Amino acid sequence: MTLLAVNGLHKSFGSVVAARDVTFTVERGEMLAIIGPNGAGKSTVFNMVGGQLKPDRGQVLLDGQDITHTLPQKRFRRGVGRTFQVAQTFLSMSAAENVQMALISCTRQSTGLWIPARERHREKAVELLSRVGMAEAADVHCSALAYGDVKRVELAIALAGQPKLLLMDEPTAGMASRERAALMGLTVSIAESQGIGVLFTEHDMDVVFGHAARVLVLLRGQIIAAGTPDEIRQDEQVRRAYLGDERALDRPKGMSPA
Ligand code: ADP
Ligand code: MG
Repeated sequence: MTLLAVNGLHKSFGSVVAARDVTFTVERGEMLAIIGPNGAGKSTVFNMVGGQLKPDRGQVLLDGQDITHTLPQKRFRRGVGRTFQVAQTFLSMSAAENVQMALISCTRQSTGLWIPARERHREKAVELLSRVGMAEAADVHCSALAYGDVKRVELAIALAGQPKLLLMDEPTAGMASRERAALMGLTVSIAESQGIGVLFTEHDMDVVFGHAARVLVLLRGQIIAAGTPDEIRQDEQVRRAYLGDERALDRPKGMSPA
């Protein structure tokens, strides 16, 4: 069964139609990118899938179940995960402690049980960190980690919730290009090996064309194209939508700017 099915989602803000009849699917293990110019409606669609925003009409189905009106926290428990930036206060904790906190909140054992919980979730936290290549940094404070490594910890935190669907809003923002490729390569391998569907928005076309299995292009709230990276790169309408930035579409797959 299809993991995520979005049917005819519509959202207006006053006279602005931020999403118009948006329909798409995400399968298990698939990386789907949503791209489009600023104001195209990417965050609006993203937030309707995550539950932060209510659609005017349309449906969001997870594993065939209607979650259109399900609250974000409940969606999370059903398997809709999201990467969040490690909060400033959490920088003083180690990588493992950050993941342990996530594990504690997922298992509803948060209040007053920090000390025993710390022991209980340690092993699992280190295992999650090893999945993102960060086991050796388990006891390093996040404030001492390189930015790209903090991003890996954020991914481990998201995996603590055992998501079926992972939402990543501009996951590589602020990263150097080599780090971007590494993080997204890692995300692809985790998504494929664990059958997690990933929906992400991204400005960097190298990241999109190098790592997405399929790409949706939004323009003024509407999907104007959907297809493989190669199909999207050659789409005339997409090229016009990106007029002035066409060279971004021409860079060969996998190649990053110096
Ligand atoms: P993107 O993420 O692609 O840049 P958004 O989804 O943020 O686009 O915005 C799509 C359109 O909806 C824009 O015109 C934006 O100004 C408008 N919009 C988004 N959120 C709101 C809001 N909360 N209130 C009013 N207008 C909004
Ligand atoms: Mg946005």
